[in-house]
Amino acid sequence: MLIHVCCAPDLLTTLFHIKNVEFFFYNPNIQPPLEYEKRKRAVEDVARYFSLDVSYGEYSVEEVKKWYSVVKAYKDLGEGSERCEKCISFLLERTAQEAQKRGYDSFSTTLLASPKKNLSMIEKIGKTLEKKYGVKFYFKNFRKGGAYQEGVRLSKELQIYRQNYCGCVFSFLERRVRKHVEASKQRYAE
Ligand code: SF4
Repeated sequence: MLIHVCCAPDLLTTLFHIKNVEFFFYNPNIQPPLEYEKRKRAVEDVARYFSLDVSYGEYSVEEVKKWYSVVKAYKDLGEGSERCEKCISFLLERTAQEAQKRGYDSFSTTLLASPKKNLSMIEKIGKTLEKKYGVKFYFKNFRKGGAYQEGVRLSKELQIYRQNYCGCVFSFLERRVRKHVEASKQRYAE
């Protein structure tokens, strides 16, 4: 099986359920590039620690532009919207293609470990790609059975970088504005 890796914290949660597979870090949605490097380095640290087999997909101007072209019509819709559906579909399509090319019979994603993601949306995307590429989508709620808590514990113990926004520039801005509004409300309430 080939498992798409979105970030190190979600990889740690996923490892609670599954380890002996190949992992594929592919995320042209992450901006800015410095943040991408931080997240990639965190995944490299986890891979080294657990002796994982991880390959790394492209991250280039062309790749970021390809990602942007699929989400741009939805960019103002906010987190959890159709923008995320397009984004996740883009990341998983590349994973399904790679799984097919490498001769794997299934693929999945550590996004299924993320507490903020809509699992049924991911499952729907995975099943559509399963039909398109003839590679089975492995679906499991990777957060279950104490996995999420264990992932958090491990990330603290190993001092693994935990990001504070989903990844794209829109999620970064949305979080900044939200925090600013909350802080202003609190100031006026005092
Ligand atoms: S918020 Fe996250 S899932 Fe949604 S478009 Fe941005 S990077 Fe992708």
